Amino acid sequence: MKYERLLERQRTFFCSGKSKEYSYRINALKALREALVYYEEEINQALLEDLNKSPYETFITEYGLALQQIRLAERKLKGWMKPLRKKVGITGLPGKAYELAEPYGVALIISPWNYPLSLAIQPLIGAIAAGNCCIMKPSELSPHTSNMLAKIVARAFSEEYVAVVLGGKEESERLLEQRFDYIFFTGSTAVGRSVMDKAARHLTPVTLELGGKSPCIITADANVREAAKNIAYGKVMNSGQICIAPDYVLADETVAEQFCREFAEQCQRMVRDALTNSKYPRIISQKHFKRLQGLMEGTVIKSGGRSDPETLKIEPTVLVDVKPDSPVMQEEIFGPLLPVLTFRTLDEAEDFVQAREKPLALYLFTTSKETERKVLNSLSFGGACVNDTISHIACEGLAFGGVGQSGMGAYHGIHSFETFSHRKGIYKKSGLFELSMRYQPYGDKASRL
Ligand code: NAD
Repeated sequence: MKYERLLERQRTFFCSGKSKEYSYRINALKALREALVYYEEEINQALLEDLNKSPYETFITEYGLALQQIRLAERKLKGWMKPLRKKVGITGLPGKAYELAEPYGVALIISPWNYPLSLAIQPLIGAIAAGNCCIMKPSELSPHTSNMLAKIVARAFSEEYVAVVLGGKEESERLLEQRFDYIFFTGSTAVGRSVMDKAARHLTPVTLELGGKSPCIITADANVREAAKNIAYGKVMNSGQICIAPDYVLADETVAEQFCREFAEQCQRMVRDALTNSKYPRIISQKHFKRLQGLMEGTVIKSGGRSDPETLKIEPTVLVDVKPDSPVMQEEIFGPLLPVLTFRTLDEAEDFVQAREKPLALYLFTTSKETERKVLNSLSFGGACVNDTISHIACEGLAFGGVGQSGMGAYHGIHSFETFSHRKGIYKKSGLFELSMRYQPYGDKASRL
């Protein structure tokens, strides 16, 4: 009943038309930015408590990205809101056609714990820019940051415009019983399926930002040292708890040994002793810690492997001689474990990826333009980096989203605006002259124009 009333209030506010006005949207973006700046210290503290995330890592992976997207939206909003002129074709003459972007109405944003600030704020930027009202449900597993989100939103907005509902699965499911106009979900594939199922009852459109196993392919001609460095960068960050973390490596068999050695060296350089490094993030919960321990059981550990159940830290760990059907290759790892498998030919590597669910990200390490063209064109994935990991998510205007089991829809930059907008296609007939041929009786008019 509580949620029904909240939704009703938001719907009434939406119907007033206020949230659609350009001035309202731009002021809302400014208010959000101001609230983030006001609470910066507390946000840093919250992320430290939830994930042992250092303020620096918080800035480069959460706070800074959120601010970047707000500023971009502030700069571009006027242009995004303009009607788009379209060609009418011969049958539309004389007349004009255009598309008007309208907000869906009241949106629901459900977000996860691993980037608890940016994965809640970034969709909100799109929802606001497009003129929607919004209810947000952040994760119960990052309670400090979720509480911060409630404070940020309460400082910036009235509840009838944007509101935060705190809670877990139960609250989420109760919210999903309501009829929203748009649902933006970020989280696991299993929960995404259930969200889509519930949305289908109301025919509510959804964006699903899900997970999966993102492979790294290292070819024989790659700069192996650079590959190791950039894969370590993506695996160490947030202790591998990233939707687009390099999940496993497929290395040409001639460079696999060198890769394992260089990767261990790079991890050592980056985090030194991971278990005592105060800036190395921890695993979010006992449950996830135990799950990762379970994935290591029965595997061959090439480097790393130590963990501390007290602090919930696990050091970056390379697993070798991994069977494709072993548990660590069946589920998204979401932690600092890196299975390294080998291939003989590039086709073999491509077949391996193709035989599995479409990944959210693909990372290719090669110096060959031909290999780059071949792999990027033949495989399906959400997004990719060549000779790097993770960085595509931070390119401010680049579409970010999954495909198949890794999700549907995309956001960031203008894509966030488009995601939360319905485009109304409009045709306006002109009275300048008449195309009489379109009217009955057709008589013996030619069948082809
Ligand atoms: P999760 O699916 O368990 O939870 C996500 C959100 O859904 C939380 O707010 C949670 O309270 C809620 N929820 C849980 N069960 C629910 C249910 N039955 N019905 C409705 N809502 C429910 O995911 P998580 O553990 O918080 O996050 C990790 C997963 O998210 C990983 O799979 C990761 O790859 C994915 N992820 C994807 C992206 C992306 O951008 N594609 C980003 C971050 C994380």
